[in-house]
Amino acid sequence: MKNIAVLTSGGDSPGMNAAIRAVVRKGLYHQLNVFGVYRGYQGLIENDLKEMKVHSVADIIQRGGTILYTARSEEFRTPEGQRKAVDNLKNNGIEGLIVIGGDGSFRGSMELAKLGIRVIGIPGTIDNDIPGTDQTIGFDTAVNTVISLIDKIRDTASSHDRTFIVEVMGRSAGDIAVRAGLAGGAESIIIPERDFDYDDITDRLMKGHNRGKKHSIIIVAEGIGSGEAIAERIKQSTGLDTRVTVLGHVQRGGSPTAYDRWLASLMGGKAVDLLLNNQSGLMVSIVNQNIVGVPFEQAFSEKPKIDLDAYELSKILSI
Ligand code: ATP
Repeated sequence: MKNIAVLTSGGDSPGMNAAIRAVVRKGLYHQLNVFGVYRGYQGLIENDLKEMKVHSVADIIQRGGTILYTARSEEFRTPEGQRKAVDNLKNNGIEGLIVIGGDGSFRGSMELAKLGIRVIGIPGTIDNDIPGTDQTIGFDTAVNTVISLIDKIRDTASSHDRTFIVEVMGRSAGDIAVRAGLAGGAESIIIPERDFDYDDITDRLMKGHNRGKKHSIIIVAEGIGSGEAIAERIKQSTGLDTRVTVLGHVQRGGSPTAYDRWLASLMGGKAVDLLLNNQSGLMVSIVNQNIVGVPFEQAFSEKPKIDLDAYELSKILSI
């Protein structure tokens, strides 16, 4: 193998740049030519790529977002779009592709693998919603962002004796809510993976309030629906001064944490190793602290991998 390419696809996440840097520099170390494809699969269809050198990835390990930009491509979902992408890869002499993205991106990768391109995936999403890996690139940074915001909200909540409903991202997964809720000392966490009971939440709120607690933070995962509706119901049944904060896209940005830079670097290096070993159809994963390749199919499992033990513990600790 002489030529490989790397692209980022789907939603961006902090640490993607660190992964690109690792792919480029590990590839160059092994005497490969490494191409960067802009705007994900759409750029592949439009042959929007450029050869990367050592300096192309200088000064990016600490930057959020992705220097290759990312996109969602409807055209790539069609056989014609995939054919164009494969033709462009072949015309450029590219035999191996590394895709940094989410499970949707990996479904696209499987189509390319069927058409004879060797493809390795790297899980990059803040949501941590990809089975088959203990963690995804960007999750740790997003959780740290949420925690720092919870700390700020707590200051104003306790000054005014308020209850804050804080809606966090995660799509249909509650991982960000659980990790940030536990680490941020939230009074309650509401996630799509577990039924919740208003009476239980309001009982806990009132117990805390009657004990003289000056604030309460309830973390709601976006997958549960609207934080506003939950706030309204809590306000009506408790009479507490209740406010809602939707954290939104601020959770997707920012400089990646040390953990995300470390994970992204290891995963990028491993992806190049797998291509050099003629592997394809694998996602790079971290499993029990080991960086391994697992079949893409594991990323499509329906079973949520959320840490429900941490969720249960948070209920005990937030009394
Ligand atoms: P995130 O989790 O951040 O949303 P993702 O990779 O899951 O990331 P998607 O929008 O689902 O994001 O997928 C990214 C792109 O991958 C799509 O725009 C499309 O081009 C391609 N893709 C997704 N699913 C398929 C599929 N079944 N077949 C072919 N291509 C696909």
